[in-house]
Amino acid sequence: MAQETIFSKIIRREIPADIVFQDDKVTAFRDISPQAPTHILIIPNKLIPTINDITEQDEMLLGHMVIVVAKIAKQEGIDESGYRLIMNCNKDAGQEVFHIHMHLLGGKNLGRLVG
Ligand code: 5GP
Repeated sequence: MAQETIFSKIIRREIPADIVFQDDKVTAFRDISPQAPTHILIIPNKLIPTINDITEQDEMLLGHMVIVVAKIAKQEGIDESGYRLIMNCNKDAGQEVFHIHMHLLGGKNLGRLVG
């Protein structure tokens, strides 16, 4: 049984967070330590600890998360200027919270990620 994280409490609104979107599958809220003018975390309401734990049953859920990302980017006014979507998995990527999340970053020139 996977261990709940602080993100489960945010989903259930037991602790405060700046939630920008929520439906029955997904919750999105502003990162507490923003790395860009827009830094929003998009998470499934269902607890999946890491990308490695995603199964084929989650295919629709993951697709829905990306659709929500695009909606939020438009809402934030960064859809045309551009943004970056990041998911960290385990130690070498620096994953700190073991409830999968997409980082949506934008609102400034983010520079090159690699190369
Ligand atoms: P990771 O390194 O796991 O990919 O990213 C975890 C992110 O969650 C970090 O950017 C961190 O600032 C954010 N975070 C951790 N705890 C909280 C919290 O309680 N509230 C919010 N809004 N963000 C959090």
